[in-house]
Amino acid sequence: MPDLPLIVWIAFAGVLGMLVGSFLNVVILRLPERMAAGWRQEASEMLELEVEVTPTPPGIVREPSHCPQCKHRLSALDNIPLFSWLLLRGHCRYCQARISIQYPLVELLSGMLSAVIVWKFGPSWIGLAGLFLTWTLIALSGIDFRTQLLPDQLTLPLLWLGLLLALLPMFVTAPASIIGAAIGYLSLWSVYWVFKLLTGKEGMGYGDFKLLAALGAWMGPISLLPIILLSSLIGALIGGGLIVLRRHQRELPMPFGPFIAAAGWVWFVAGPGLLQGYMHLTGLR
Ligand SMILES: [Zn+2]
Repeated sequence: MPDLPLIVWIAFAGVLGMLVGSFLNVVILRLPERMAAGWRQEASEMLELEVEVTPTPPGIVREPSHCPQCKHRLSALDNIPLFSWLLLRGHCRYCQARISIQYPLVELLSGMLSAVIVWKFGPSWIGLAGLFLTWTLIALSGIDFRTQLLPDQLTLPLLWLGLLLALLPMFVTAPASIIGAAIGYLSLWSVYWVFKLLTGKEGMGYGDFKLLAALGAWMGPISLLPIILLSSLIGALIGGGLIVLRRHQRELPMPFGPFIAAAGWVWFVAGPGLLQGYMHLTGLR
């Protein structure tokens, strides 16, 4: 790595994070569409139905971005992360249609979290791995918020990458990673079944188990309990807030994935520090 001051690397990570955030927006919108199209195709083949010819949804990488309303191709100038949205005050330059605040929010979040990762871990292989974890968690959270799904296409590669990095080892040893993945999956799996047998309802989905398994593979079994506790805390705060603001009806399903992802990220960046602070506050140390 060239010998630049850390602040330069942090700024670089922030800009890179915003650019990646633009791409994450596309993934958040298009991956579920493509999954749904694939399911329709499979189901109609299985049921031996006449396959209706539906246009395949746009590819994630190759299709240029366009306004969802007027389909006008966006120029490079319309595609600058965050700033284009601010300059145009959230409207399409061509048809004035409102553009979702999801776009600048995801770009801003991705930029800020990427900067934090490089500030914390430096311009290193560990920092690079942390960026991949961050970006995948943002994409998963966005998709879960919109569609209540955590696609295997993202959770499983994250799990594999965590297991492979443990071979180096990078964050935890290989045994810790394997056990973390297994306990991560099984813990939520058993909560799911107990809850389902007691209430007949489904509180979460299999994607949640896979996401926690992936976090267990990255951070080991010790991290799982704090991640679960933190995610419940974040979920209670945000979910409670939304219900109070009447933005969310109590009966509607609330995605749990974004809270697991947020808790996992916080623990990844600040886990040991948080634990020390907690022990200090409670007089345990
Ligand atoms: Zn437009």
